[in-house]
Amino acid sequence: MISYQLRQREYLLQISRAMTSRLDLPSLLRLILTSVAEIVRAEAGLIALRREPTGNLVIRASYGVPVSLLPRFAPLLADFPLRADEYAIPDLQTRLNLVARAILLPLHQVIALPLTFEERLLGVIYLFRSGSIAFSANDENVLASFADQVAIAVRNAQLYQQVSAEKQQLDAIIEHSADGVMILDPDLRILVFNRALSQMTGWPAEQAIGRPCYQVLALEKTSGRSLCSAELVDVHFDGEEPLVVEGELARPGGSRIAVSVTFSPLYDEEGRLSYVIANVVDITRFREAEEMKSTFVSVVSHELKTPVSLIKGYASTLAREDAHWDSETVREGLHVINEESDRLNALINNLLDASRIQAGGFRLERGDVNVVRLAEQVVESFRIQTDRHHFVLDFPADFPAVLGDEERLRQVFNNLISNAIKYAPGGGEIRVGGWDDDKSATVYVADQGIGIPPEEQGKLFQHFYRVDSSLRRSTQGAGLGLYLCKSIVEAHGGRIWLRSEPGKGTTVFFTLPIGDQ
Ligand code: ATP
Ligand code: MG
Repeated sequence: MISYQLRQREYLLQISRAMTSRLDLPSLLRLILTSVAEIVRAEAGLIALRREPTGNLVIRASYGVPVSLLPRFAPLLADFPLRADEYAIPDLQTRLNLVARAILLPLHQVIALPLTFEERLLGVIYLFRSGSIAFSANDENVLASFADQVAIAVRNAQLYQQVSAEKQQLDAIIEHSADGVMILDPDLRILVFNRALSQMTGWPAEQAIGRPCYQVLALEKTSGRSLCSAELVDVHFDGEEPLVVEGELARPGGSRIAVSVTFSPLYDEEGRLSYVIANVVDITRFREAEEMKSTFVSVVSHELKTPVSLIKGYASTLAREDAHWDSETVREGLHVINEESDRLNALINNLLDASRIQAGGFRLERGDVNVVRLAEQVVESFRIQTDRHHFVLDFPADFPAVLGDEERLRQVFNNLISNAIKYAPGGGEIRVGGWDDDKSATVYVADQGIGIPPEEQGKLFQHFYRVDSSLRRSTQGAGLGLYLCKSIVEAHGGRIWLRSEPGKGTTVFFTLPIGDQ
């Protein structure tokens, strides 16, 4: 008997060593359960742990009982007290008898071992025997002496599980944040680098991590002080205050985005800087919107003011009561007033169209359109406005009708031809023509004007965009024409693009779907 007890103790010692090194809760519980069952020669057992926040017991490990039968052990788990000093499971034996009879298992003896940590009950270990030999007082003592260590090991594993679950959540939040996030050490080397930031910078996380942040987030044209700058020698925060910097970020393909970076310090208990969290937000769209707002104001004020002041000037001159104008002067004055009102009207219509397009309220009235006739009409209306340019129409005789909105397409021709005139101040040929294939018709307007520098060509279809040149300053325009053309062509399901060579000329092409024939 003595040697049996000794063996028990030795065995216990071995298990407690194994237990302390195990943090994975399920495997720890299995180890505990099989060990205690062996020590007291139990054939089956359960470990039930309290689940927060309800405090109900839930079976977390079993031994010698088919898993499918585990729910049937619920009566054993009911009425479990919260506090250790209230621990008692009344009628344990009766409950077991009930369960055993219901599931037809020969479980006759039961002992329950509470797991207590700091006055709280973490859970219970139940052990069962099938024979008629009840658990002895010695069994109970051996288990009781072991219970505290089991409780500590369980508690540690639970805490570890909780901490790693929280870490996983945090990692997921950082990784999936729509903003760029990185965590830097006090020497500003990158420790954590999320996906959004990889996309913004073009740096894969595995390459960015470990590098000084100025290599990865080198901002240009900064306003404010960036911590990611090669020249920076010491990192200094004003208490908890974050540092905010705005700047431009060159991306791998050569494009640029505007970003705002917020650097927040994180201190340890002694007040030393332990981490810097950098939050990077793409503010390109915001900047564009800001720029557009200010362009809008300047365009509108400039473009609207010119005709208004001309109209006002002529009208007030003609209206002077002390002067008598000859009919020639009056006609000239009225002519200017008439033309400038037209311009005002056109500009206002363009502005309205542009805002309609942006609001998504742009509807086409489709029908068969004879593009050749439309081109001829528009060319005729321009022919009288210029004697420097000569127009050539170049369509094949069987050019098909297209399916479209005639008035909108007239606007496209008007804008393209007015550009061809405006941006070829020296005159030359303006050719309007097209060709077709089975599915679509392609139309072009070609001039021999100043052309467009290659780097500007992609931007012209944005609204309010005008190429900065001396001609731009001397010609009028809101930078809306090509934007409207693009919107109209795309609403038809077509495409618009241009080819241009500075000094030689520009050709704008667009496609339209062919109507039923
Ligand atoms: P708006 O058409 O609103 O009166 P705009 O002519 O300046 O003003 P767009 O028609 O959108 O605006 O053209 C945008 C810019 O593209 C122009 O300012 C000009 O710099 C350039 N551009 C357009 N067409 C030509 C062309 N045929 N040749 C050279 N530059 C052109
Ligand atoms: Mg134009």
